[in-house]
Amino acid sequence: MTKKDDVLLDVRNLKKYFPMGSGGFGREKKVLKAVDNISFHINRGETFGLVGESGCGKSTTGRSIVRLHEVTDGEIWFDGKDVAKMKEKELKPFRKRMQAIFQDPYSSLNPSMNVSQIINEPMEIHGFGSRQDRQDRVLELLNKVGLKSEHIDRYPHEFSGGQRQRISIARALSVNPEFILCDEPISALDVSVQAQVVNMLEDLQGEFGLTYLFIAHDLSMVRHISNRIGVMYLGKLVELAPSDELYTHPAHPYTQALLSAIPVPDPKAAAMPSELLKGDLPSPLNDMQGCKFASRCPFATDHCRAEEPEWKEISPGHYTACHLY
Ligand code: SF4
Repeated sequence: MTKKDDVLLDVRNLKKYFPMGSGGFGREKKVLKAVDNISFHINRGETFGLVGESGCGKSTTGRSIVRLHEVTDGEIWFDGKDVAKMKEKELKPFRKRMQAIFQDPYSSLNPSMNVSQIINEPMEIHGFGSRQDRQDRVLELLNKVGLKSEHIDRYPHEFSGGQRQRISIARALSVNPEFILCDEPISALDVSVQAQVVNMLEDLQGEFGLTYLFIAHDLSMVRHISNRIGVMYLGKLVELAPSDELYTHPAHPYTQALLSAIPVPDPKAAAMPSELLKGDLPSPLNDMQGCKFASRCPFATDHCRAEEPEWKEISPGHYTACHLY
């Protein structure tokens, strides 16, 4: 259980834009607004899920928060300090406190390093203990993530996908972080292994008091692990609510469409045809007026196409941006 007001991470008006080419003679330069002015917070010990179709900006949001991307604008308050514009030297202590695991552990683990070296590396960078302390910690972490001491000298290619993700988790845990960005950590794994990794992440959260930003497109797994969930569409947050509330009373037509693909207890929540999302996402390069979902929304009106809906609280802790509310 989290203390309601114990905020660890507070993201305010975050923007991450990527300039795209020169724009050509007489034309304006194009800009990809991957993350376009989003705000949310995560309480200490909480798991915040971030969902949406591929290309909605959820991974760019996560990578901006842990400063793997330079931020275009906005604030990222981590434990009372704004890390958004910090230079690398100032950022170093925060890098230790904010770790990340990614979708494809095979590409995020150095293939020429063995397990001991992989888990040791962050501890060496951050000056953690003596050599013996670090070696003891590697063994302890291997045990925590369900691997054996004899795995210590093996290389990433000798493991299955699930085992490689366990190595990534041990590496992230090695420097005692408080926050872990989990960027689609189970998407590349077999279904049978996904639940094991999610259960392990939950156990580790309980043991070490970790806070997670869990990014995924698999809505059923996100519900299981998240306390609250944010839904993104074309760089914007369109809805945010406690997990059960989002699944039983989705407000935004986009959330309803995402949920229509999976079984939900409330039949009204499944009223939106799943075919809705078969259309392509509009290009994020086009600067759209009004609601960005209007081109795919069956409820769109001229008002929606002309004016961007405001972000409003429609019930305690449940927010959405839609003119229907
Ligand atoms: Fe649909 Fe209009 Fe709501 Fe956008 S604002 S989601 S177009 S009803």
